[in-house]
Amino acid sequence: MKTWLAVMAFILALLGGFAWWGLLDGAAPASGDGVFTIAEYRALVAADAPETLPTEVRAEFVGESQAPSMAAMAGDFGPARTFTYASFQIVAPGGDTIIDGAVDAETLKAMSAKGRFDEASYRRVLAATTEAGQVLITHEHLDHVMAIARHPDPEALAPRLRLTRPQLDALAQHAVGGALAPAIAAATPLELDSPTHIAPGVVAAPAPGHSPGSITIYVRSTEREYLFIGDIAWVMDSVREARGRPRLIGWIVPGVDPDRPAVLRQLRALHDIAAAEPDLVIVPAHDAPYLRGLIAGGALREGFAPKPPPPA
Ligand SMILES: [Zn+2]
Ligand SMILES: [Zn+2]
Repeated sequence: MKTWLAVMAFILALLGGFAWWGLLDGAAPASGDGVFTIAEYRALVAADAPETLPTEVRAEFVGESQAPSMAAMAGDFGPARTFTYASFQIVAPGGDTIIDGAVDAETLKAMSAKGRFDEASYRRVLAATTEAGQVLITHEHLDHVMAIARHPDPEALAPRLRLTRPQLDALAQHAVGGALAPAIAAATPLELDSPTHIAPGVVAAPAPGHSPGSITIYVRSTEREYLFIGDIAWVMDSVREARGRPRLIGWIVPGVDPDRPAVLRQLRALHDIAAAEPDLVIVPAHDAPYLRGLIAGGALREGFAPKPPPPA
């Protein structure tokens, strides 16, 4: 009898340990020093003439779905989270910068049977990418690339692409039939070994961890500073609490967080930056209520800018 009790206790302890390890533990390390060098990003745009800086940042919410809170942040027992699939437009006098290509209807359907898709919004994203000065993605995952990998006019899009080699290499798997349009496959890769000036007020920096091709994008507009962090955090609470995704997500969803320690260091760094720089607008890709809050507060505007009328 005693032996059975001991065996049961051992099994329960093992299960408890596994649940903690797989679902509950997401603590970031104590230091994220040197991970994001905001002073360096600021120095890179310091010489940009004020009249060339971006004037506003706009967002298109192309799709939406629900996810369990525990999937977004380890140990979170809260209600389901609403994820948005967005694209951002940095509006600037010398040419807009588009960040991320969101999902198309088919991709969202495959990701979530109950997802809500906005066809008109997706069409505005497709149109904006072929009018932009440059098109960037925060990373190469399927919910950030469809307006690029499946663009109906690849020849018009290709010269505007600023994608890194790891991002370009991962794009074909998202193209219809697994083959990229030749113009996109042949796009010149963006060399991004360190923080790099992309356009007036815009700096991109490598940030591998959530995926090999993950980058962050710093934007200095005439009004504010922004840091686009892609999927380093799925919800802003991850930054506020310095707590990452559960390990189980990395097994269930292939390709998520191949370098989890790097992601946790980045979260610590973002947590510290958010505390030290309360005016810097941190923009995670998917946190719908938080992004709606940025719109309500005026840091983002909803809907891409309509195309200016042709000169008379
Ligand atoms: Zn991702
Ligand atoms: Zn994503």
